[in-house]
Amino acid sequence: MSNCKSLSEISQLFDTHEAIEVLRVFLESASVGIYLYREEFIYVNPAFEKITGWKLSELKNKKVWELVHPDYRETVKERTLARLRGEKTPPQYEIKILTSEGQEKWFEVSVATFEKDNQIYCIATTIDITEIKNYSRNLADTLSEYKAILQAFDGLLYTVTPDFRLAFVNKKLEKQIGHPVSGELCYEEIFGLKEPCPWCSLKEVLEGRSVKKDIHIPEEDKWYYVVATPLIYPDGSQHALHILMDITQQKRAQQEILRISKLESISLLAGGIAHDFNNILTAILGNISLLRLRLKKHLTEKEEKLFKQMESVCFRAQGLTKQLLNFAEGGSPIKRVASIKEMIEDTVSFCLRGSNVSWEISIPDDLFLVNIDTVQFGQVVSNIVINAKQAMPSGGRLWIKASNLKLKEPKGPLKPGDYVEIIFRDEGMGIPKKHLSKIFDPYFTTKKDGSGLGLAICHSIIKKHGGHIEVTSQKGKGATFKIYLPASKEEKPTSYNLVQKEIFKGKGRVLIFDDEEVIRETLKEVLEMSGFQVEEAKDAQEVIQKIKAQNFDLAILDLTIPGGMGAKEVLPFIKSYTPKTKTILMSGYSLEAQKVKEFDAFLKKPFTFDELFAVIDKLLPTKSTKNAKNR
Ligand code: ADP
Repeated sequence: MSNCKSLSEISQLFDTHEAIEVLRVFLESASVGIYLYREEFIYVNPAFEKITGWKLSELKNKKVWELVHPDYRETVKERTLARLRGEKTPPQYEIKILTSEGQEKWFEVSVATFEKDNQIYCIATTIDITEIKNYSRNLADTLSEYKAILQAFDGLLYTVTPDFRLAFVNKKLEKQIGHPVSGELCYEEIFGLKEPCPWCSLKEVLEGRSVKKDIHIPEEDKWYYVVATPLIYPDGSQHALHILMDITQQKRAQQEILRISKLESISLLAGGIAHDFNNILTAILGNISLLRLRLKKHLTEKEEKLFKQMESVCFRAQGLTKQLLNFAEGGSPIKRVASIKEMIEDTVSFCLRGSNVSWEISIPDDLFLVNIDTVQFGQVVSNIVINAKQAMPSGGRLWIKASNLKLKEPKGPLKPGDYVEIIFRDEGMGIPKKHLSKIFDPYFTTKKDGSGLGLAICHSIIKKHGGHIEVTSQKGKGATFKIYLPASKEEKPTSYNLVQKEIFKGKGRVLIFDDEEVIRETLKEVLEMSGFQVEEAKDAQEVIQKIKAQNFDLAILDLTIPGGMGAKEVLPFIKSYTPKTKTILMSGYSLEAQKVKEFDAFLKKPFTFDELFAVIDKLLPTKSTKNAKNR
């Protein structure tokens, strides 16, 4: 039989005096605060005194709510008064109180009431829950701190069970995937693969090793830096924690540096070859033109056609050397302020006329001017347009749009400022993602007869102009090339006179300085045909000798003479002996305006006679007359 007794059984065991003694022992030994009150305190036990710091004697005449923290005081007052009126109030609640020293404490209070002589009395027990409250508040703070850190982390973060199931993914990754993925396979949900990723490090991580590596996702053409580390939970279960940082931009920058260094080594080689080749080409072109002039009257239509073909082949070769020279050291652009509207229209129409590709050009009249080498930029446009045409073998459409762009914030490699944005969009076969980062590399081609130099040249030219070129494309969905060129601060484009095909007639003395005999001879012959008196010099000594002996109206000087003094070195002699002599610098390299400013004009080899006479006409206007007949 149980020794436990009910309260009524116990009350039989004690008389009133003994029962009061039991109550006293109970109240004084209890570790929870117990107090009896109406509006004011009637009794508080020692535990209450201990946790509030108030002595029973000090609480006499104090209203119970006076101990309550001001935030809760009004509520407690209302409830107490309601309770004393016999209304129903919550029997249990949490409040904040103030101890006798003003310290804040949290109490959990349970209140009961009883009636005596028609008056309601309240008896309450209270537990100090300050520590629990503080602990749970600290826990909540810590949790929200961790949550905030996880949310602020700009990478992708996830944990994986040993059987490739996702256990946790951060908000950024969940947003990227687009739906909740807990319990799903990591390689399917994150990387869209049917089996574990080729770079998967789960096995090493489960063996206790941390793995760090760069990975490339070809489908997205994105690079990530991955850190995978073992994660052991308190219950002993093991997961792998993965942190992925998108490093695509950094990788692209590295590739850009590599590309530039590749270009630099090619440029050295190209520069050397192109320079010699240019001299040869100048001579061939000159001689063909001369021969054609000499035989003009006697030429049959067929022979005339053959000459034209020879010239056009030479022009193609000239185009090639220009391309090579763009790589070379001296291939820096000769920039002038220009409007690109007409040039784009002409180049596009030239490249696509007669093909099955139609085009649409939209360029506003108020497009910013740009400071460009028009020849080089023309090459950029034609390389892109020809690629677009080749990407649409069964025909299609190419859209070209140019517009002004005012950048307030940096955009990729572009600093804030004014730019002209030119967009070429085709509807061709497109570029697979895995090729996107390679197409600007020299020699990258997917074409049977491609050189892989077209876009590398575009890239190099645009960089030299302080601009930027980029591509977006999807296989089968066309390609879009975007070019950004800094807008020019200058207002008006320098006028660019197209040379008329006219017989040039002039007079005066001309000195030709070139180590290549064939160039000297060709120039001499054509200048003499136009009425000039011509002297030749094959080296600097001869130049100095001749200018000491006679006055020249014009000196045409080659920049580099192997093993000897060239144009720059002989110029001071010319200036001091015959200061009135006009000087033309010739070179196979494109030179910056800065480098040719001591000379009166610059001619880039190979040049046509029209170009030569246009320059002479400017320098010696009083000594020339133009004849309207065709040469
Ligand atoms: P090439 O034309 O000699 O191949 P490029 O440097 O001009 O050299 O182009 C490199 C590669 O870029 C091409 O082989 C082709 O795969 C790709 N490409 C360039 N433009 C386009 C385009 N508009 N559409 C599809 N692929 C293109």
